[in-house]
Amino acid sequence: MKTFDKILLTNMERPGYTGSLPDYEGTGGYKALKTVLGNVPPNDIIEMVKKSGLRGRGGAGFPTGVKWGFIPKDHPGPKYLCCNADESEPGTFKDRQLMERNPHQILEGIAISCYAIGAQTAYIYIRGEFRLATKILERAITEAYQAGHLGSDIYGSGVTVYVYVHVGAGAYICGEETALLESLEGKRGKPRTKPPFPATHGLYQKPTVVNNVETLANVPHIVNRGSEWFASIGAPPKSTGTRVFCLSGHVKRPGNYELPVNATFRDLIYELGGGMRSDKPLKAFIPGGASAPFLTPDHVDVQLDFESVALAGSMSGSGGITVMEEGTSMVWAAFRLMEFFYHESCGKCTPCREGSAWIVQILQRILNKQGRPEDLRTLAEICENIGGRTVCAFGDAEIAPVQSTLKYWRAEYEVLIEEAEALKVSRKEIPVLSVAQAREVEGSLS
Ligand code: SF4
Repeated sequence: MKTFDKILLTNMERPGYTGSLPDYEGTGGYKALKTVLGNVPPNDIIEMVKKSGLRGRGGAGFPTGVKWGFIPKDHPGPKYLCCNADESEPGTFKDRQLMERNPHQILEGIAISCYAIGAQTAYIYIRGEFRLATKILERAITEAYQAGHLGSDIYGSGVTVYVYVHVGAGAYICGEETALLESLEGKRGKPRTKPPFPATHGLYQKPTVVNNVETLANVPHIVNRGSEWFASIGAPPKSTGTRVFCLSGHVKRPGNYELPVNATFRDLIYELGGGMRSDKPLKAFIPGGASAPFLTPDHVDVQLDFESVALAGSMSGSGGITVMEEGTSMVWAAFRLMEFFYHESCGKCTPCREGSAWIVQILQRILNKQGRPEDLRTLAEICENIGGRTVCAFGDAEIAPVQSTLKYWRAEYEVLIEEAEALKVSRKEIPVLSVAQAREVEGSLS
């Protein structure tokens, strides 16, 4: 793997770096905010981010500058920025590290982004379980207000940015941007039907941008070093920059690794992750969080960028890579993921709410050696009736583990069902005794 300069994890890998304001300022922190406020027109920042090719790092990968450009410039009332810190995708844990180890990098990104879209208020919607990250962010926000990096008339520029941390209740679906907005408004976190989109009817029906933590953390670096620099990293023109990939599962060295997006899964799993923990062969990996279809050892030389992973039949998603070694039951893996999705379905639409329950029941039956020959067809039909027929993308996400394991490891399902059939036959072969015969047998035994 070629050497490269890290962007987001550089500071936190410095010896003694604590993430405090003096530490951050000591490495050039808030320089980008000082450069732009009152000096660079907001629209130029939007253009800069567009040219950089930065795409959302939360899962969908939508171009960030384009999203900012949808905010109506002439809107007379308030506009909002929401930082999506509701990181709940199984196998994804990068935002937590970014928040805990370098919170000011995110705050600086938030302040610049607010200035670019004309918002004076930003909310960081953080997952309820992230208690440490919440405390660290709140302390960093206080430091930033005291130092004049946030608040009214920042650096005498006339620009105002207030940042609030809002702690969620730990629901996976609140990572979906419209469910996040509902939750932030004090309602149950259920996705909204779109259109209208948050760019015009977001928080409190006002123009709103929702960006992921890692996405916002990139913004100060793009301002400091230029859009051309960022656009030259990775797999331009469509997938640029680096990403923080979360490596977990059966590898020797799990953890967060920042890589340019043109690195491959082999670089990540074998070179950085040290390969399989038991030195067994690789069997499968999830390339982008639990919602991404499984890939096989044939895909380890695929690049990590959005387009390459899509061409391989999956998605780069949230950047969470979960590795499984030979010996893992793929039916079991699909079942565990489906249990999670069933638990987290918000229940708003029938195919997702009912379908996820049916899939869990069928997978459980197959694993319990009670599967039926028609189960695989039924599973495929349920998935077809969920995909593309739900209010939000959760429906497509939850069928990914089932469809991809059926595609690549169908034989494992078939073996379990054949075993269930064999058990049925052997059960039939046990003679059914009459009561009198049973008593006779019992008497002969006593
Ligand atoms: Fe809720 Fe599932 Fe429908 Fe999304 S797809 S709105 S999570 S029921």
